[in-house]
Amino acid sequence: MSGVLAVAEHRRGELRDVSFELITAGRQLADQTGGDLHLAVVGGDTESFADSLNREGVDVIHTVPEGEEFNHDVYAQAVEALHAEVDPQVLLMPNSVNGLDYAPAVANSLDLPLATDAVDFEYGDGLTVTREMYGSKVETTVDVGGDRQAVTIRSAEWPAAEGVGDAEISEFEADVDTDTGSRVTGFEEVGGGDVDISEADFIVSIGRGIEEEDNLPLIEDLVEATGATLASSRPIVDNGWLPKNRQVGQSGKVVTPTVYLAIGISGAVQHVAGMKGSDTIIAINTDPNAPIFDIADYGIVGDLFEVVPELIEEFE
Ligand code: FAD
Repeated sequence: MSGVLAVAEHRRGELRDVSFELITAGRQLADQTGGDLHLAVVGGDTESFADSLNREGVDVIHTVPEGEEFNHDVYAQAVEALHAEVDPQVLLMPNSVNGLDYAPAVANSLDLPLATDAVDFEYGDGLTVTREMYGSKVETTVDVGGDRQAVTIRSAEWPAAEGVGDAEISEFEADVDTDTGSRVTGFEEVGGGDVDISEADFIVSIGRGIEEEDNLPLIEDLVEATGATLASSRPIVDNGWLPKNRQVGQSGKVVTPTVYLAIGISGAVQHVAGMKGSDTIIAINTDPNAPIFDIADYGIVGDLFEVVPELIEEFE
């Protein structure tokens, strides 16, 4: 028993960003536990997924070519079978909708203690996991206990692994019963539209500072001039000015763009939870003491109704 087994995630033919973050987290842990980092990819185009996942730090990639999309029973069976084969110290999974679907079932079946939503961890005498509580206001550390452990990691907490690796790629025959009780029959985006802000590279995000819905066209002009993707804080969605799939934050989506331009957003902890992993954060706010400036790389203290038109002119 040593090393780490991490389970990649994909949807509609594409690997999710968290898969590459799992490699970084898994490598960190494998260096502490000793042993190899094994990565599992279940279903979909496993061959091309394995090629993409072959990044620095991965020792072995196990492909399990069963089904196309996520399926609870298939994942649970495949991960349990791989766990028996690899015998890792720690099983790592994403703290995503899918991860939270199969991780508890797998942990229960394998009799592993499960720590969910980890934002950090350390393996010394045993496994200690850091989690956030009270809307990210405090951090707690949990001694997970057990001989072996299972953990789900929060997305955007570890950087994505880079660099081409030289992992051994091996197909694993999991002997999975595919006659399952549920299957994916299609996808429907929440709130209409097919924009996935979690995949966007440049986000223009608006908050209550825009005051009223009639001011949206101004922001849409900026979005068009910059080629960005439009997102928002929760009040904008609560007011019905943008659909739910545009909301960034604790009860919205986690985004990791190269640039996050926050306009008229105060920077409440619940909002920051969804965007703090952005590479470069730029904030426009009239209040120099707004908390968003604590995490912004660049800040403009000013009235958005003056700054945004100038930005549009500059970009055009
Ligand atoms: P405000 O906090 O009102 O900030 C508006 C900002 O605009 C201010 O800083 C102000 O100075 C600035 N401003 C005003 N006029 C101008 C101007 N003309 N030019 C420039 N700046 C101006 N929030 C989320 O965003 N996402 C979530 O997922 C989320 N989940 C939540 C979950 C729970 C359980 C709870 C309790 C809350 C959650 N919230 C979430 C709400 C969160 O606490 C904040 O209320 C919200 O993020 C505030 O949104 P805001 O920054 O747009 O508005």
